[in-house]
Amino acid sequence: MYWQPDIETLPAKSLQELQLQRLCEVVARVAATVPLYQRKLAEAGVRTDDIRSLADVHRLPFTTNADLRENYPAGLLALPRNEVARLHTSSGTTGKPKALFFSRRDVDQAAELIARCLVMTGCSHGDVLQNMMTYGLFTGALVMHYGAEKAGLMVIPAGPGNSERQLMLMQDFRTTVFHTTPSYALYLADFMEKAGVDARRDLALRKAFIGAEAHSEETRRKIEGAFGIDAYNSYGLSETNGPGVAFECEQKHGMHLWEDNFLLEIIDPATGEPVPDGERGELVLTTLNREAMPLLRNRSRDLTAVIPEPCPCGRTHRRLTRITGRADDMLVVRGVNLYPQQIERVLMGVPELGRNYLIHLRGLDEMTVKVELAPASFDGRAENLLRLEGRVAEKLRAEILVKPRVELAAPGTLPVSEGKARRVIDERVL
Ligand code: ADP
Ligand code: ZN
Repeated sequence: MYWQPDIETLPAKSLQELQLQRLCEVVARVAATVPLYQRKLAEAGVRTDDIRSLADVHRLPFTTNADLRENYPAGLLALPRNEVARLHTSSGTTGKPKALFFSRRDVDQAAELIARCLVMTGCSHGDVLQNMMTYGLFTGALVMHYGAEKAGLMVIPAGPGNSERQLMLMQDFRTTVFHTTPSYALYLADFMEKAGVDARRDLALRKAFIGAEAHSEETRRKIEGAFGIDAYNSYGLSETNGPGVAFECEQKHGMHLWEDNFLLEIIDPATGEPVPDGERGELVLTTLNREAMPLLRNRSRDLTAVIPEPCPCGRTHRRLTRITGRADDMLVVRGVNLYPQQIERVLMGVPELGRNYLIHLRGLDEMTVKVELAPASFDGRAENLLRLEGRVAEKLRAEILVKPRVELAAPGTLPVSEGKARRVIDERVL
């Protein structure tokens, strides 16, 4: 099932022609309207008519988080203010939020892309989407909301938190799909278990869209197992609409990036040079279809790779592998480079452990991993707990090469955030 079959299955050559035409338009427009790009293009010695092939994108300047912040609030706006329909901001996970503008057409186009994603996962009229993302400035909830309505689903704008009410809504309105962060999905699974709700018996859930935070395949499986559903990885960033940038199809193997809307590059984050297809690097996107705030070569800081093989679903837009974290997330502990994702993968693979965890760094590189026990394995017997702590610490050492202290916590005792989870507390005195 396709939402826009012609564009979703457009042969690669036609897709590239469309991209080139749109790229030229975008460069011409920002060169005419945005002082930052006027300056950057001049510094790079690029004139608008220099862009003759897609390979010429490498001559264009990057846009960085610093550019977005320095030009806050409206320095990158490419339209007159009275043509802006909506303001969003990023979550601000890694600093001051960025302001993002949408024209009326941008709002509609973002919804189109979401509709493509939802139909791609087999959703349609008759599905009931419970949207548990934060409504407000964050793109995650509203963009999904409009797209799901466009695709003909019924939307419950539940927002995050209040797990008892979430379960009530799911039961009373026969929710078939929910949209949330991996951390909240895991929390809700624990809550549901404690409340004695059996998803397979009591709920009508079929699917979930899981996004906004990096998560591992093990976490996906844990969510799927707890609710008896298919969980699809949903990727987006506020600079490029929010959700709906790349999404898994029913194959659940890589996320299709909508290449008619975004020009995709993967670069080496250290040198800025392109990496060969299939190799991991930083995702860089140029928006090809945004009016209010088009961006050239926006550096996402997210690490991924292109899956070059065609997808059996028939869509020609290339797939990205699961985001393995942000370049900014990398921790250096006792000289070893590691990502919180690696720790998560290990923890989610241990059945006795629950779903909530925290990485605490203190002093001179002391690392403590605090993790909740699964409700079923919480018998409070000290000798069992000690043995489990030792086993988990050993497993972590094998994965990250540093042996942390492991502290087990009772189910439901570690902090839960309403928006994106905060997994790392770094209080080192380095
Ligand atoms: P921020 O969190 O940086 O303030 P946003 O609210 O725009 O900004 O969130 C976008 C970021 O969230 C992405 O750059 C990425 O790091 C993360 N993200 C979103 N979806 C996913 C996903 N499915 N997998 C991994 N990371 C994701
Ligand atoms: Zn596919």
